[in-house]
Formats: sequence, structure tokens, C-alpha cells
Amino acid sequence: MTAISTNPDELDDATAIDELDRRFHQMRAASGEQNTPTLDQRREDLTALAGAMFGFRKQIQEALAADFAVHPTQLTDLTEVLGVAGQAQYVASQLEEWAAPQQRFVDPQSFGTATAEIQYQPKGIVGVLSPWNFPFLLSLGPLVDILAAGNRAILKPSELAPASSMVLADIVSSTFDSDRVAVVTGGVALARRFAELRWDHLLYTGNATVGRQVAVAAAQNLVPVTLELGGKNPVIVHSDSVNEETVAQIIGNKLAKNGQICIAPDYCLVPRSQLEEFIELSISHTFTTMPDYGTSPDCTGIINERHLRRLTGALDEARQRGVKVVDLKPNVEIDPATRQMPLTLVVDPPEDLAVMNEEIFGPILPIKPYDTIDEAVGYINSHDKPLGLYIFTRDSHAAQTILDRTASGGACINTCAVQGVLPSLGFGGVGSSGYGRHRGVEGFREFSNQRGVVTRGTGDTTAAFFPPYSGHAQQIVDAVFGETAG
Ligand code: NAD
Repeated sequence: MTAISTNPDELDDATAIDELDRRFHQMRAASGEQNTPTLDQRREDLTALAGAMFGFRKQIQEALAADFAVHPTQLTDLTEVLGVAGQAQYVASQLEEWAAPQQRFVDPQSFGTATAEIQYQPKGIVGVLSPWNFPFLLSLGPLVDILAAGNRAILKPSELAPASSMVLADIVSSTFDSDRVAVVTGGVALARRFAELRWDHLLYTGNATVGRQVAVAAAQNLVPVTLELGGKNPVIVHSDSVNEETVAQIIGNKLAKNGQICIAPDYCLVPRSQLEEFIELSISHTFTTMPDYGTSPDCTGIINERHLRRLTGALDEARQRGVKVVDLKPNVEIDPATRQMPLTLVVDPPEDLAVMNEEIFGPILPIKPYDTIDEAVGYINSHDKPLGLYIFTRDSHAAQTILDRTASGGACINTCAVQGVLPSLGFGGVGSSGYGRHRGVEGFREFSNQRGVVTRGTGDTTAAFFPPYSGHAQQIVDAVFGETAG
């Protein structure tokens, strides 16, 4: 006998799973004849998406404010509205060049006048599982690449940002035919089912634990997967750059969205002899530029109580262990209604603390002293390869040397996180921060079947590969290796 759930979330998910299956099969039927959209159609899709971002601007702002309790409207405009619209416009302007077949070298001695090229063909139907932190940018951003490559898509946004998910569904249903792009909303049961479908490509953005589960589910159907994961992004501050500008860049990037960005600086490696100077600069920067940070509308709320408890718990642990904790906004009681958490520095924490062995994803900045650049590089290399790596120095040779000796999905010199906002630059992780790319020509190619096509000409040696091999094949072998001794 099948158990019937009385949990309303599970019942909702059961309905959502039926809806997902129905939409998936509808899309599969519509895509059955390889009716590849023309480049003009794709550009129309991208232009429509850009227009929708402007049209839905107010709803997007309200949804993010509802999901995060507090979300600066300017940040919403810059990242979610303009981020998606700008990417769509940029990709539309590049599409002709990116989609053009790429001629490849053919050795005339072997293949005569044959030609060879890579043709870019849509993969088909792409599934997108996206997280709560940028509910529009991380679903509709990849959709830009997916549509540019001529695919269809079903998006499953995060259950942790329900107001944004509803607006996302409205944007998509008012902009695209339902057999081209659709949104399904629901919880973890729906997300699990989503990962089990026979997609032509699956994109998952989120944490590594679920990322592994998604990759395993997709492997059952040999579905290719792009995993956009997180991790701890290090910052190396060189001794020549402990100054106000460096601190403004690091703290500013940490506090955009209150640290809830996958490419935010996670921790800082600072020369031991300049540790106090760095801390003083951080304090004075925060007090002068953001005296009311923690209560002002510029301070994004932490997404939910569970994450707030996780972050305050990590600070409590550091305090209990006697680690120096610098409150940059002392004596602020966090209002549970706004979940606005001020920035805190944790100085030289031991490795077994949560702030050093888990991704922080919030307004806590551990500062770890180092004595030599070799030691700082060694520390980074003894941990998982990060999504982002940031180097602050005036010495370009020193910066390149650090880049050469480390690996990360992306990197910046003298800033942080900008590698994740340029629509021209492929974005993604390496090792445990993920694999595959979206954005840029890399994103277009990720969602394309990069098909190698050869057209035979004249004067080739193809027949040499066919049996019997005593004739032409033997002549070639003899010409290259010398006549075989009797
Ligand atoms: P989340 O909890 O919103 O989950 C992301 C998606 O996974 C959601 O759509 C959810 O429904 C789905 N999901 C949940 N459980 C699932 C399961 N068992 N099977 C399949 N799908 C499931 O997001 P999160 O994981 O809390 O996001 C934060 C993490 O994401 C951080 O680690 C952050 O660094 C990372 N992140 C990475 C990027 C990037 O581009 N590399 C961007 C943003 C966030």
C-alpha cells in the first residue's frame, strides 16, 4: 500500500512534480524535430527578456525585499535587473560571431581538399536548478546563454526565496511560450525529481553537498551537468597594499548582499607585521562610510533564521575559544524581523573553527596573518580549489606569480568578484567549486552541441583506411617507416 502524505509541502510537491513531468514531455514533443530557432528568433528572445527585466523591475524589488526582509533596491537594480538585461543585450550583440561555424585545419596530404568545421547546435532541453541568493540573475542569467544557443529550458528556483520564485514564473510566462521556457516551483522533493529527468543538459547552482547528489542523479541518464558551487574564496593582501583602497574593496565586496554571494571574499591573508594596521583601517573604513550599517536599508537581511543562527553560532564559537573578535558595529542587537547582521572580523582563528572550515556566506571576515607569500600560497593550496581568488598588490609580477602557483575558478587583482559580473567572461569553478561555465562565449558553447563536421573533397587518402591494406595503406606505411624488411 502506498503511504499518503499529510504534509502540505509534500502534497504541494506531488502536484508540482506532475506539472514538471507534464511540461517536460510537452517540451520534448515540441523539440522532437530539431526545429532550431534562427539567430533572429534567438535575438528576439534575448531582447524580450531584457525588456521584461525592466517591465518587472518593481515586482523584482518587492520580491527580494520580501524574501530577504531587507534588500537594497539599488543593489536589486544593479545585479538582478541590469545584470540580466545587460547580459541579454551583450549576448545578442555577439551571437552572430559566436554561432558561426569555426573552420578547422585539415591536412591536405591526407585529406586533399576536404573541409572541417565546428558547428554549434542546440543541445535541446536544459534544466536549471538555481539558489536563493540571486533568484533572478542565477536563473535568467544562464537562460540567456541557453536561449542564445537555441535551447528550451525549465527553471526550478529555490524554495528559500518564494516571493522571487513567483515573480520569476510571471516574467517567464509573460515573455516566452510555455513549450520554450517554463518555471516550476516547489520544494526539495520537486528538486530531486528535477535532477532525475532526462535533460539534454542540467545546470545546478548551489552548495557542494547537493551538487554531488545532482551529479549522481544526472549520471543515471548520462546527462551532462554544469555545477556552479561555492567554497572559501581567499584574499591575499601583499605587503605593498595594506591601505584604505584595499580595505574599501574587500569590505565593500564582503558587504554587498551582506556576504551572501558565492564569490564574496571569504577570508583575508594579511602580512603579520601589518595585521593591526589592516584591522584599524577596517574599523575606520566601516565607521566612516557606514556608521549605521547593521540597521540601515543598505544592509541586506540574512535569508532566513537558520542561516542567521549558523552565522551567529560561528561567532559565538570563536568568542568561546578566546579568539579575538572585532565587532565593527558593537552592541547592535540583531532584529529578528530584519535579520540584519553587522560585519565582524575574526582575527587569526584556529583552523578547526567553523569560520575557517566552512563557507561563511555572511558578514564575517576572518583575518589570517602570514609571514611569507610562500606560506600564504601554501595555505591556499592545502585547501579545496576556490571559486574566486583575490590578490591585492601593486606588483604585477607578484600577482602573476601567485596566479601561476594557485588554481581557482576565477580571480581578480586589486578587486574582488568582478570576474562574476562581466558578461564577456566565462564563469565557473574548478575542483570542488564546480565544473563547466556559463556567461561569455564559454556559456554559449557549454549549452551547444559542438559538432565536428567534415565535408569530403578530392585527392584524399581515405581509402587507405579500408581493407585490404596491401595497396595504398602499405605504400603510406612504407613511405613513413621505410620498407618492411622481408
Ligand atoms: P538552495 O538551498 O537554494 O539550493 C539550490 C537549488 O538546489 C534549489 O533550487 C533547491 O531547490 C535545489 N535542491 C535542494 N535540495 C536538492 C536536492 N536534494 N536535489 C536536487 N536539488 C536540490 O541554495 P544553497 O545551496 O543554499 O546556495 C548557497 C550555495 O550556493 C553556496 O555554497 C554558494 O557559494 C553557492 N552558490 C554558487 C554560485 C556559483 O555561481 N558558483 C552562485 C550562488 C551560490
